[in-house]
This record gives sequence, C-alpha cells and structure tokens, in this order.
Amino acid sequence: AAKADGKAVWRRYHPQLYDAAMERMRLRTSLDQAIEREEVFLTYQPIVHLRGTLRVAGFEALVRWQHPEYGLLPPSQFIPLAEETGQIVPLGAWVLGRAIADAAAWNAGRPVREAKHVTVNVSAHQFLEDGMVDEINRKLMSEGLPSELLVLEITETAFLHHHGPEVSRNLNALSALGVRIAVDDFGTGYSSIAYLRDLSIQILKADRSFVDRIAEDKEHLALLQGIVAVATTLGIDVVAEGVETKQQEQLLRAMGCSFGQGFFYSRAVPIDRVAAITAQLEGPGA
Ligand code: C2E
Ligand code: MG
Ligand code: MG
Ligand code: MG
Repeated sequence: AAKADGKAVWRRYHPQLYDAAMERMRLRTSLDQAIEREEVFLTYQPIVHLRGTLRVAGFEALVRWQHPEYGLLPPSQFIPLAEETGQIVPLGAWVLGRAIADAAAWNAGRPVREAKHVTVNVSAHQFLEDGMVDEINRKLMSEGLPSELLVLEITETAFLHHHGPEVSRNLNALSALGVRIAVDDFGTGYSSIAYLRDLSIQILKADRSFVDRIAEDKEHLALLQGIVAVATTLGIDVVAEGVETKQQEQLLRAMGCSFGQGFFYSRAVPIDRVAAITAQLEGPGA
C-alpha cells in the first residue's frame, strides 16, 4: 500500500515537512484573498524625539493578518513567504496606500510643525519594481500627504543583496521627491558602512539587539555610541529600536541619539488609537 501511494509514504516518513509544505500552500492561497477580504490591517507604533520634552515624531506602520483559521498572525508568519512568492508586491502596494491615507487623515487640520510622519517597511522586491517611485508619488498626491511626511524603511540586508544601479536610481528619485529613506535593522548585516556615504539615506534604525544590551554591556554601549557619532557626522538621524526601559532611554539621550521607538513608549496600536496615544505621550497641552 505504501508503494501505491507515494504521498502517504512521504507523509508517514516526513510528517513535519509534509505539514509545513501543506501549510505554506494554504497560506499562500489565502494570502491572495486576504487583502480583498480585509483581513490584513495596519497597526502603528510611535517614534518619539529623545531631545527635549517628549514629542511624537511619527509612526511606523506594522502589518497584521487576522486569518480566518489561524487567528492573528504577526508579519514574521507571512512576510517571508510573501517575499518568496512575489505576493509582497501587491501586499506592499496595499500597505503603502493604506499608510499614506492614514497619515493624511491623522495630520488633517494639524499645523505643519506638529505633523507626524509615517514610516513604511518596503521589501527589496518592491524597491526594484520599475514604476515604484511614480506609484508613490501618485499615492501622495491623491491623498494630499506632503512627501516630507513619508519615510521608507529598507533592511540593511536588502541593501546588501541588491546593490545594483536600480537601487541608487530609486533612492535618488525618492530623495528628489522629498521622501526620506531609513536603513532598518542596522547593525545586523555585517556590511560595510561605506554605503551610508554613497547612497541617499537620511535615517538609521539601530536594531533592537543593540539597544537591548546597552545597559548591561559596555561593548554594546560603545558600538552604539560609535554608530551615533558616525551617523551624526554624516547628517543622518538615528532611531533606537526596541527601547523598553527608562535606563535605556537615559543612555540613548546621553549619547545624542535623536529618536526612540519601543514598548517603553507604546506597542503598535490600531489607527483609531493613534490620536489617543499621541495625547497620552505628549501630555496635556501638547
Ligand atoms: P521592524 O521593521 O524592525 O519592526 C519592529 C518590530 O519590533 C515590530 O515587530 C515591533 O512590534 C517590534 N518592537 C517594537 N518595539 C519593541 C520593543 O520594545 N521590544 C520588542 N521585543 N519588540 C519591539 P513586528 O510588528 O512583529 O514586525 C516584525 C517585522 O516584520 C518588522 O521589523 C518588519 O521587518 C516586518 N514588517 C512589518 N510590517 C511590514 C510591512 O508592511 N512590509 C514589510 N515588507 N515588512 C513588514
Ligand atoms: Mg521597520
Ligand atoms: Mg526595524
Ligand atoms: Mg528590527
């Protein structure tokens, strides 16, 4: 019987592999329908100024998937798959459109100096798409969001693996528009930092794994101080990711790090709580 049914053999001897492959196929199919069924949604995590009194500078858009069977899925459960299958292109386009519309809404009627930017994670795939810059420009115009209020985050490893001319061309075109670029998860990629000088980059997001340890480990503290010093010299702002304690915040302020983001301030919240979180963080009178 085993011979007659190859699938059964496979399932019997490699049950985990079989399940994983099945699972991926089902996820892949359901991801195609997820956007139109409105199962995918964005949450927003505040990024705060570390200089002076606490003010919210902007919010990072972080995608979630309310799956009908599997429940609430974090991006780690579907973004890597979407990158492999290419589904990240339509998904990423949806994320960008939604985030731009949401930021236009939360800034409506606010004075320019109190405006809060939105920062959006963009995968290497999306970044290499031909019409990418035009599409972003169209979305900004149609929602009426000033380009200065949009930041795109690209991981350090994405820069590493796709360091072609398209990348610098797109970066330059975005800069010309006024859209800022952040290197995400900076410090995890073992890369040369020469690209910071060569490419049009305005923000570094120091990875949580650094920030995690600055209070206990002098070497991590020294590394982050060095990164902040280099960035400052190059005119690049640093956002510390994963700030969880007051002590970390104090060390970051002392080293001149411009911005912080982490559970110490707030987790990512749905759009309808953005205004309340802003008011709560900035305090009365803000
Ligand atoms: P990321 O861009 O580095 O986002 C920061 C992640 O760290 C978020 O996880 C956030 O919830 C988490 N985080 C923030 N502060 C803290 C903290 O104080 N402590 C701890 N332990 N964690 C903190 P999340 O939302 O699960 O996102 C994971 C990753 O998925 C993101 O990492 C980003 O690379 C990716 N991602 C999220 N949304 C999108 C998207 O729309 N498109 C793409 N391409 N990738 C996305
Ligand atoms: Mg990010
Ligand atoms: Mg990050
Ligand atoms: Mg990170």
